[in-house]
Amino acid sequence: MSALAVDCRDVSVRFLSERRSVTALENVSFSVAPGGFTSLLGPSGCGKSTLLRVIADLIPPSDGAVSVLGATPEQARLRRDLGFVFQDAALLPWRTALQNVELPLEVGGVSGQAMRGKASPRDLLALVGLSGWEGSYPHELSGGMRQRVAIARALLGGPRLLLMDEPFGALDEITRDRLNEELRRIWADTGATILFVTHSVYEAVYLADQVLVLSPNPGRVAAVETIGLPKTRDLSIRDTPEFVAIAARMRGRLGAVH
Ligand code: ADP
Ligand code: MG
Repeated sequence: MSALAVDCRDVSVRFLSERRSVTALENVSFSVAPGGFTSLLGPSGCGKSTLLRVIADLIPPSDGAVSVLGATPEQARLRRDLGFVFQDAALLPWRTALQNVELPLEVGGVSGQAMRGKASPRDLLALVGLSGWEGSYPHELSGGMRQRVAIARALLGGPRLLLMDEPFGALDEITRDRLNEELRRIWADTGATILFVTHSVYEAVYLADQVLVLSPNPGRVAAVETIGLPKTRDLSIRDTPEFVAIAARMRGRLGAVH
C-alpha cells in the first residue's frame, strides 16, 4: 500500500469562545510514511494533542486537508484503522486486565468480524509483556503495567495507525525507559504506523525515525527531522555521539522557538 499513513497539508485549528479565539495550530504540514514511527515534540500548549485529535477525527480542522491511510480521518475511524492511547490508561477498575482489553468488542468499537485472523486479547496481553496478569485488576497493577494494558486494548482489531498522546508522561524514568524499548519491539512486531506525542527530547529521538518539532503560540512546525539511527536500537544508543548530537540539535530547535 503506497498511500501515506498520515498527510497534513496547511492544517489550522482555531478554537472560538465568546471571549476570545485561540489559534492552536497554524499551517501545519507534514507526512508519515506507512510503517513509520514519528514523534511529535513540543512544549506544553503547542497543539500536540489538538493535532492528534484532528487525525483521529475527534475535531475537524478549521482549514487545510488531512488524509489518513489514503482516506479522510472519518473514513479511517469508521474502518477501525486507528488506535488511541492517552496519558491516563483509563481502565475500568472493576474489570480485569483481560476484560479491559476486550472492552472494544463489547461497546461496538471492534466487531467480531473485524477480529477474524487478528491477535486475540490474550495474544495482545502477551505482546505487551503481561502474560500471567490476565486476571489482575487495575489496582493490582503498577502504572507501567496499566499503560501496557491500554496499549494492548488500542491494538485490538489490528489498527494500522496507533496514535499515542504522552502515554508514558506520568511514569517514573526507569519504567518509561523500559516501555520505550518495549514500544520499539511492539512497533516492529505489529507493523503499525505510530504517531507519538511527547515533550521529552530523549524519548522523541530514541523512539522515532522522524521527529516533528512544534513551536507554540500558535502551533507551527519548527522542524521535521529524519532520525538516521539504526533500526535496531536499545537504550544504550542514547550514550553514542550520534544520539547526543541529534538530541542537542532537537533541543536547539525547541529552544530557538521559545
Ligand atoms: P499540547 O497537547 O501541546 O499541550 P493542546 O493541543 O492541548 O496542546 O492545546 C493547544 C492550545 O489550544 C492551547 O492553548 C489550549 O488551551 C487550546 N485548546 C485546546 N483544546 C481546546 C478547546 N477544546 N477549546 C479551546 N481551546 C483549546
Ligand atoms: Mg497534550
